[in-house]
Amino acid sequence: MTTSHRQIEDVVAACSALAAAGLADMIWGHPSVRDSGGRGVWMKASGHGFEEVDSDRVVLVSWTGEVLEGSGRRHLEHPIHTQIYRARPDVNAVVHTHAPAFAAFASLDVPLHPLSHDGVPFTYPQIPRLTTVGGSLISTAALGDATATALGDANGLLLPSHGAVTVGPDVATAVMYSVLLERACRIELTALAAGGPKIWSDEQETVHKRSEVWNNSQLEAGFGYLTRSGAAR
Ligand SMILES: [Zn+2]
Repeated sequence: MTTSHRQIEDVVAACSALAAAGLADMIWGHPSVRDSGGRGVWMKASGHGFEEVDSDRVVLVSWTGEVLEGSGRRHLEHPIHTQIYRARPDVNAVVHTHAPAFAAFASLDVPLHPLSHDGVPFTYPQIPRLTTVGGSLISTAALGDATATALGDANGLLLPSHGAVTVGPDVATAVMYSVLLERACRIELTALAAGGPKIWSDEQETVHKRSEVWNNSQLEAGFGYLTRSGAAR
């Protein structure tokens, strides 16, 4: 398998996993991986749901937004991906979705707590939020730069009135972070609706759980399960 083929298959697997995890918003939202040749980003083509994506529905988008390979169209929000990769040399995969729990939780403007394992990658320090621009599409390089700046060196970013972005050194991590963040937001919403949480992990326990619960092996195992689930649908 060539490097390009591997990256296309990574995007297909990411889409399958995101579909299995229930993070779809019809045809919107997109995972990407960095092109190992430095040409840009491999990302899901527009116009298809996560569960519909196969290797013919992945495009290579240049740093300035041109489709270099693949016959599909690129998503309008490609600058989320290009500008984060420019700012974060450690990031090789980016996921952006519109799962409803992200906007619902972000609308409350309250901190996220590690109420379960799911919130561990996004607390101590607290997950950042994009507050410098509105909730419109991230469709220009300037808006992509604002997104990358708000993300900083975090694992994820809440986009109030829009959705969320997660990143990782590989596709399994970026996808699992989106899955975990969506669950963490949903669990917090449930607790808030029941009167508000009173018990959660402290900083020491949270830092410990980042290596115990969400080490590479665990993230790969979760991602593997989701891709198998997606393939079985
Ligand atoms: Zn979006």
